[in-house]
Amino acid sequence: MFMTNGFNPITNVETQESVAALTFDDGPHPIYTPWVLRILREHDVKATFFMVGEAASRFPEIVHDVAQDGHVIGNHSWNHPNLTKTPSRLHRLQQLRKGAKGTAPYCQRLFRPPFGAQNAQIRFDAWLFRYQMILWNVSTQDWVRQDSGDITKKMIERVKPGCIMLLHDAIYAGNEVPEQDKDRGPMLNGLDRALSTLKRQIRFITVPELLRAGKPVCNWSSS
Ligand SMILES: [Zn+2]
Repeated sequence: MFMTNGFNPITNVETQESVAALTFDDGPHPIYTPWVLRILREHDVKATFFMVGEAASRFPEIVHDVAQDGHVIGNHSWNHPNLTKTPSRLHRLQQLRKGAKGTAPYCQRLFRPPFGAQNAQIRFDAWLFRYQMILWNVSTQDWVRQDSGDITKKMIERVKPGCIMLLHDAIYAGNEVPEQDKDRGPMLNGLDRALSTLKRQIRFITVPELLRAGKPVCNWSSS
């Protein structure tokens, strides 16, 4: 009875239309998120931001700016734990609740679990809280150090109609990640150049718009 469309995660949609969704995880960030907004504005592209509630609560004016520009904001937990490894169900539910609170009043009922890590219990809880779980089917591995040319090339080669692409406007990882790996410069320059080419071929829309543009499906292979 729980295998409804709302219960299953979505990685992409099947569609004949030339549309796709860009998603930005782990923000907001005081420098990089406004930078992303400038690029998206310049290319007239709308995107979806899966925000970490703790960061959002520190930068409410940036959350506001993202919403003001017509982008969609979704829940990416309170402080980015691997939810399959949290000590209790209560802890997981608090991650969802606090994540929404941190991005209030803009958070839509879209949830992306940190690292894409999820199981049946987490999918059930998200469904119970009326969230649609959104994963992705295209990534440029932009959390790995690479130059902007690589990001551009991967974006252009991998994008396809109906895809949900994973990008990061911040790397939310405390001290586990070296500072230089948090530099979003290559991703931002790569994104800017890729959009110059891609916007002639494909229209980038928000995740809710994409879900209405075709048949939402789950082709998850990462775990
Ligand atoms: Zn994340």
